[in-house]
Amino acid sequence: MSITISDTSIDEFHLQLGLLQTLDVGLIILDQTYHINLWNTFMENHSGLLHTQLYKKNLFERFPELSESWLKHKIDAVFLLNNRSFITWEQKPYFLKFKSYRPLTSDAPYMYQNVTLIPLSSPSGKIEHVGILIYDVTDAAMGRQALEAANIKLKLQSQTDQLTGLYNRGFWESCLQQEFDRFARTPLPSSLVMIDIDHFKKVNDTYGHPGGDEVLRQLATILTEVTRTTDRVGRYGGEEFGILLVGSDAYQAQSVITRLQQRVDSLTVNHYNHDIRFTLSMGLTEISHTFNSHEQWIHMADQALYQSKQNGRNQVTIINAEE
Ligand code: GH3
Ligand code: MG
Ligand code: MG
Repeated sequence: MSITISDTSIDEFHLQLGLLQTLDVGLIILDQTYHINLWNTFMENHSGLLHTQLYKKNLFERFPELSESWLKHKIDAVFLLNNRSFITWEQKPYFLKFKSYRPLTSDAPYMYQNVTLIPLSSPSGKIEHVGILIYDVTDAAMGRQALEAANIKLKLQSQTDQLTGLYNRGFWESCLQQEFDRFARTPLPSSLVMIDIDHFKKVNDTYGHPGGDEVLRQLATILTEVTRTTDRVGRYGGEEFGILLVGSDAYQAQSVITRLQQRVDSLTVNHYNHDIRFTLSMGLTEISHTFNSHEQWIHMADQALYQSKQNGRNQVTIINAEE
């Protein structure tokens, strides 16, 4: 579509834009000094400002919230190159902040806008005006954002164990594998602690499965609290957990284990007026270049855990690879 316009026929042009007026699109026409020559009905309705109030007013003086140098640069390029230019809502959510009136998207904080800048030539062919078209794309933007939020939630759910909120085994193992691969490049130590609740079957037998579930949840909270956000805590199996302590050698890992033991020692899980107490057996293994895979690392920590069980439970065994 080519639009021809001259300075003197703006009013006439305004009439000719009857069609555009009825469309759900904003139109601002600016001259080369950024003075407003047209402010259509859409703009009047959404801004609450009439064309007559803005006519021949400088856009940037009237709307100081616009980022002047950035927008001037864009407008000047349209004048100079006689080319269209676009601003999408992903780049800038809106050109001018308008309320969103869409009932379907009532939770939209404002109207999302796509903007097209078009060169408008005078009868002589010179570009003397620029048209700014403003499209309400709130529905599309909100739809996309809802989809992205749903995808993020879905991804998190696929990584999370439902009962405890910790990482599930699949995702936790993928973290361990990543850490194992990282260690091949940079020799910063890491430690792995495998944890198993002692005589957990008895907890279930005595207090019921829901009582056991409550123990698992409270232990998960403690595991999260005694570790750093960079550590990776996962539920490895029913009452087995794994902690990857990133950047900690076996010695440093022991202080985390001590904190964990202290917390569990002083914990009483109250479930329907029953006090449940429990202990942990653990196996600790520092990462080593002698492992061919992260599975070997797990296997060694698991052997250490097994020894803790054999030696009477409620204890930690450290087994490190011979280097
Ligand atoms: P040990 O000290 O040798 O580890 O003995 P244990 O009783 O803890 O070990 P065992 O492997 O015999 O029993 C584990 C129990 O954990 C059996 C299973 O029913 C229970 N369990 C597994 N997952 C869940 C769960 O999600 N909730 C509850 N409440 N119990 C679970
Ligand atoms: Mg077990
Ligand atoms: Mg157990």
